[in-house]
Amino acid sequence: MVDLLPDQLIKWQNVEKILIDQLSRASIKEIRTPILEMTELFIRGIGEGTDVVSKEMYTFLDRGERSCTLRPEGTASVARALIQNGISSKPFQKLWYMGPMFRYERPQAGRQRQFHQLGVEFVGYEDVRSDIEIIAFAWDILGKLGIKELNLEINTLGDLNDRLNFQKSFLEWLEINKDSLDVDSQNRINKNPLRILDSKNVQTKKILENAPRLFDFLSEKSLERYINLKKQLEFLKIPYIENFNLVRGLDYYTHTAFEITSGSLGSQATVCGGGRYDNLIKQMGGNETPAIGFAIGLERLILLAGKELEADRQTDIYIVNKGLNAELLAMNLSRKLRKYDLLVELDVTGASFSKQFKKANKLKSKSIIVLGDEEASNKEFVIRLFTKDCSENKEETISVENDIKLENWINNNLFLK
Ligand code: ATP
Ligand code: MG
Repeated sequence: MVDLLPDQLIKWQNVEKILIDQLSRASIKEIRTPILEMTELFIRGIGEGTDVVSKEMYTFLDRGERSCTLRPEGTASVARALIQNGISSKPFQKLWYMGPMFRYERPQAGRQRQFHQLGVEFVGYEDVRSDIEIIAFAWDILGKLGIKELNLEINTLGDLNDRLNFQKSFLEWLEINKDSLDVDSQNRINKNPLRILDSKNVQTKKILENAPRLFDFLSEKSLERYINLKKQLEFLKIPYIENFNLVRGLDYYTHTAFEITSGSLGSQATVCGGGRYDNLIKQMGGNETPAIGFAIGLERLILLAGKELEADRQTDIYIVNKGLNAELLAMNLSRKLRKYDLLVELDVTGASFSKQFKKANKLKSKSIIVLGDEEASNKEFVIRLFTKDCSENKEETISVENDIKLENWINNNLFLK
């Protein structure tokens, strides 16, 4: 698990600001659920045979002997929250969440035990247009962050009936090819055979190339839905690649599954994964509620986002001050200035004037206020504006009581672009 330090967080905050802004423009509303849930929720929601549930969860008994788990993902929690709060039957809801997730994995570049996700869930939507809207939204926010060279991969997993039909013939094939599979996959034959398709074992993946394909077992209706999806993506000029092996790591998906990957992420290439989960909410005790969602891994997103997002906000006013009375006046002035949309830094180091000037210079502050003994006894301060290259500066003296003059100075000098 990693600490995020102030220098790194500038980029995080810039990225989050853009994300939240885009979400609100699409009228997607935030939901916050607890980080801790009953373990049962994830076993039922994500599925027992999945990697996440079988080996990645942080699970422990609390003081009341209840099995609790740090959330490994957000969808199951959102579904629970909707059911528990009696709002799962509200017909249409577009929701987002953002926060830490926990998975006991082998840490490596782009893979941590505590990581962060932005998730979006469209609940109550069945029409293929909701699949398109959510894919287009994911695609566009990545573009908005200046990320290029992304690949969208899509697949369809059909409905439960299609899957059942496929499973029959897949099981027959598995019986014949059992011995060539890795041990993990062998163990899944009886527990959850579909999960074998998600195996990361190289040899198993190779053998699976000759297995029956789920795609060939789709009903006409499921196939039509998928063809419609592709047509609409083409209309929107969103390029995609079909990947019949894309089954996603969680059990609850139906129909559309998609991932967005980037070549510049190395082996942990997936930045966004999502899909439709029409049965999850009902299976968890809610009403029959179709839904589709995605999650973006924020660590990977930050790695991909443009360098320009690393820039911190520039200091507008740096307050240089020294001497007992001057320091008191400076403190009060800094409070006054906070009512404007300005970045104001009050120097409270007590260092020499020259050190304080140096600091203001280092920060490339647009202006400085100087308050020393002389200014304090005259009840005034000097405010100095710098040009971009610091070659010239313009100075003005303002009485500490003359708020109007101060405001005019700010309006004329700092708010003018
Ligand atoms: P992977 O195949 O990389 O393990 P996944 O299928 O387990 O991904 P999802 O459950 O779909 O991942 O989560 C969505 C996104 O969250 C991923 O695409 C990735 O960007 C991010 N993510 C998942 N696990 C981690 C992790 N351990 N560390 C950092 N980011 C992660
Ligand atoms: Mg994983």
